[in-house]
Order: sequence, then structure tokens, then C-alpha cells
Amino acid sequence: MDEAVTREAGPATATGEARRETGAPRHKAKPELLAPAGNMEKLKVAIRYGADAVYLGGKAFGLRNLAGNFTLPELSEAVQYAHDRGVKVYLTVNAFADNLELAELERYLEETAPIPLDAYIAADPGVVDLIRERFPERDIHLSTQANTTNWRSARFWQSQGVKRVNLAREMSLEQMRETAARCDIELEAFVHGAMCISYSGRCLLSGAMTGRDANKGECTQPCRWNYAIVEESRPGEYFPIREDETGTFIFNSKDLCLIEQLPELVRAGVGSLKIEGRMKGIYYAASVIRIYRQALDSYWEDPESYRLKPEWLEELSKVSHRGYTTGFLLGKPRDVDHEYLSCYVRNFEFVALVEGEANSGGTAVAVRNRLQVGDVLELIGQGSSFTRFTLQQMLDENGVPLKVAHPNQRVVLPGLAGAGEFDLIRREKATPR
Ligand code: SF4
Repeated sequence: MDEAVTREAGPATATGEARRETGAPRHKAKPELLAPAGNMEKLKVAIRYGADAVYLGGKAFGLRNLAGNFTLPELSEAVQYAHDRGVKVYLTVNAFADNLELAELERYLEETAPIPLDAYIAADPGVVDLIRERFPERDIHLSTQANTTNWRSARFWQSQGVKRVNLAREMSLEQMRETAARCDIELEAFVHGAMCISYSGRCLLSGAMTGRDANKGECTQPCRWNYAIVEESRPGEYFPIREDETGTFIFNSKDLCLIEQLPELVRAGVGSLKIEGRMKGIYYAASVIRIYRQALDSYWEDPESYRLKPEWLEELSKVSHRGYTTGFLLGKPRDVDHEYLSCYVRNFEFVALVEGEANSGGTAVAVRNRLQVGDVLELIGQGSSFTRFTLQQMLDENGVPLKVAHPNQRVVLPGLAGAGEFDLIRREKATPR
């Protein structure tokens, strides 16, 4: 390792069990950091990087059907793994069912009933009713798909036996504060991730244009595509409505990032801080979770002297995103909250996952992106620090030196001191797009 970046590592991440403080009044309990888990690997990474709770989908009735999702045996294994580490698991059943799907949904709930999940996440009032009737012992969290935008809605759901509501991204901080003051129900809010230009998934664009229904978890995000105008009697003649030379992206929101407003959210009474992204990869999840973990722990330990660290923002800028916005939290979004250039900011790419110490010595890593001797790389772990190094040597599993390694290959990196399982290796891209 030729260069250690001297960044002060943040406080060690506590275990989920130690972080959890149940039973205290909402304003005194430490908020939960809730992270996505699209599959078993993402679940392990989310827990490793500091999630207090994870949300995931089964193979039916959970939005994000394209995210991988869990079979019933996988779900049992995931819950066991999480509970062993003091982390809660919420299962999404937040699709909107039609009459024909109700029986199948009931069967699915029966199949998942023996699994000690911590809550179902539902959106459809019919699904809420079914869970309450058939599985009254199970906690229900109301999904963002239900679009709770005011305190009366939150109070209504409270009266329906719902334990927690996810507040719509369209609510301001002041509205969240008022909702917390007027209701006695747990409040959850998104703090990071993609924005939807309709009310969180209540949109027909994807279903109409690609046959993939956003309300069945299959949104292809056509709101982020490039558009032109066609006059009906001139098919095939596209009139550009140019915003700039890259095209016209009329529905294309920046991504939500509320790291700077985290203390205000906690003081407003939000008890669960949710990160979006079951479709995102492990590098994204780890990078975002670890920074919010640091910020939340740091604020909770000493609110008076809490300061936002510039390196937290810097680290969040190193994951793929579309520019950041505070969305509706501080007032209605303006044109600066829109992304007029279609491109994602992707300055760094994830290249390898550390699996642990190799039998032969050195560090075993699973290669996810082409790796070459001479690459300048960064190793990240749970803290906000990272270590930069130049890759001097690389061996295959038989100890044969390699110049280049390819995705899905396992290799050994000698001399990578301090690396542990689930640490990640990234590389700055030569030409940022
Ligand atoms: S197309 Fe865009 S606005 Fe519509 S549901 Fe998907 S993300 Fe939301």
C-alpha cells in the first residue's frame, strides 16, 4: 500500500442491537437507519455498513420485482442472519392487488407467516385490511406508495392499526413536524435516493410505454428519457424541444440527499431514515449507508457540537447519482432541482469485493470490474475514511501472477493491510461522464 489517505475514521459502527433503543418516547429514541436489501449479498452489505433495519421483497407482491428478491427459504435465512445481528427485517407487499390477485396474496402471506419478520410494508388498503384480519400479530408499515401527505392521513392509518407510515417525499420539514406533533404513529421518511416525478410510483408512463407497470414494481424510469414533440399529421418528424445540446429531459429529477438536514429530521420526530435503492448495487448501498450511519451516530452522541463533515458530502458524490436535491423538504422544488443533462455523475466505479484473508496469505477479492496491475484504487470499509493505493501485484487462485483480472474472477492481492470481509475497492474513472 503506497499511500494511506489520512482521514480521521468516524466512530466505530455499533452493532444493530446496541443501537436499538426501543420503548422510549419517539423524540427520545434513536432513529433507525433503514436500508434496501435487494438480495442476500446486499442484505449482508447493508448490515455490515450499519443499517438498523432492512427492507426487502419476496418473489411476489413486493414492488421492485426486478431487484432480485427472496424466495421463502432465502427469506428465512435473511431474517435469521439479520436477527442474529440485531437488525430488523421488513417485507414489502406493497403492490396494488386486483380482485383476482387477492387469493394468491393471502396464500403468500400464509407462507410468510411462520417467518419472524418485523413488519409487512403495505400500500393498498385492501392488503392492510387482509393483514389485520388474518395476521393481526404482524406489524404493518405503510409504504410510500400510499402517498401519505398530511397529518390526517397519518392519523387515519393510525386508527387502522398501522404502526408506521412512510411520509411522502412531497412533504416539507414543517409538515413532517406538524404530523409528528398531531399523531402518535411512527414516522419514516426517505433521506437518500431517486425521486419520482409522480407521487412515488403513481404513474402510468412506464406501463404505457414499456408494458412494465410502476405499481407492480417494474418501473423502467421513462421519466428520465429524452423527449421530442411529434405533430400528429407528421409521424416520424421529431421536433426537438431543446434545453441544450444533450437533449430534453422534461421529467428528470435530481436525486434526493438529506444528509445536511438529518438533525432537523430527527428533531422533527422522524423515527426511521430510509435509503432508497433495492435496484442499486452493493457499492452504492455500502457507500451511502456508511455515511448516514456516521452522521446519525455523530449527531446522536453529541447534538450540540455536531457538525456536517465535508468528507461525508465528498463520499456521497462518489456514488452514481444525478446531482443532488433536497426535494420538497425545504419548499417546492425549483428548476435547479431538475437534471437537464441526462447523464449520471459516475466518477468512481466499483471494481472488487474483499472476501477475506486468502489461505495462501494476502487478501482474497472477487473482481466485479476489470482490474489491472498499476491501477490506482481506493479501499473503503465501515468508517468514512478510505485508503488509496496502487495495485502492485495480483495473483490468481493458484498463485500465478496476473497483469489483468476480469469480472467474476477471484484473485489474491498481496500486501493489502487492514482489509476485511465486505470492504470494497473502487477506482476513479479516467473520464467522468
Ligand atoms: S416513470 Fe418516473 S415518475 Fe413514473 S413511476 Fe417511474 S420513476 Fe416514477
